[in-house]
Amino acid sequence: MVNNKEKFQGSSKFSVKKKKGTRIHILQDFPNCALCDQPKELVESHIISKFFYNWIKKTSKSDKKRFRTFDDKIQQDGYKLHLLCTECEQKLGRFETYFANHIFHPTDKEEHTEFKYDSRLLKFLVSLSWKILNVYLKQREQSYLNFYERHWKDFLNNKIKKIKTLHYLIPSYPQNVELKDIHHNYLELYLHRSIDFNLEVYSNFEFIYIQVPYYTILSPLRPSFIAGYKSCKITDKGNWELNSFLVIDTIKFNVLEFIMEKCKALYEEYELDSNLL
Ligand SMILES: [Zn+2]
Repeated sequence: MVNNKEKFQGSSKFSVKKKKGTRIHILQDFPNCALCDQPKELVESHIISKFFYNWIKKTSKSDKKRFRTFDDKIQQDGYKLHLLCTECEQKLGRFETYFANHIFHPTDKEEHTEFKYDSRLLKFLVSLSWKILNVYLKQREQSYLNFYERHWKDFLNNKIKKIKTLHYLIPSYPQNVELKDIHHNYLELYLHRSIDFNLEVYSNFEFIYIQVPYYTILSPLRPSFIAGYKSCKITDKGNWELNSFLVIDTIKFNVLEFIMEKCKALYEEYELDSNLL
């Protein structure tokens, strides 16, 4: 006979109470999943998709640490946390798989110069920006950002069809940058073999910034668009050209200058190991 005051055997997640002869199971310990808001067991996952880390590890000549993370420390496996339930992790995983198979790996193998994409690409970009913002808001209170977090979550949950924010996918080609000094090596390492992400303010723009191998992803918040970057704007479906980096107008917002600032900081902080390249 079960003592009603005791917890279920083999589970610390439930308790049992008796009220008017009815056994009531109370869900006590599960936190809410950040995406579906249901109290569920959460799985450990990467903020930025695991396949990027796996690819860097697999193609690297060195075992040294190389990932820039949220708190700006370099860690071996990237930034992981318990954020999503299994179902939501799988749901976002489908967008990651789409990006990996249709865009990232063909880019790595130089198999395409342009590609057609569908709504899964936008969902993938939004899922990354949403995760970063969600974690950011857990650490700091900035109420005006709650709108974006909720809006992106509703979009990922298919509660709204049309997204109000813009998301840019920019190809990262260090060879297009003329650099005479040592920063060029850092630039190549940074653009092709690093992962970096944050909420940034630069040149009067506030935006979610994500650097993964071969691509820079920007999700502007204030203002809500970046003039001159239309060719890299990802919509529900479309055609994306790899050489569009060349037609970016950097007068209002210079993404290259911003990235070079990052490289300069790396240069000042870390000695470059040529094995990383
Ligand atoms: Zn969930």
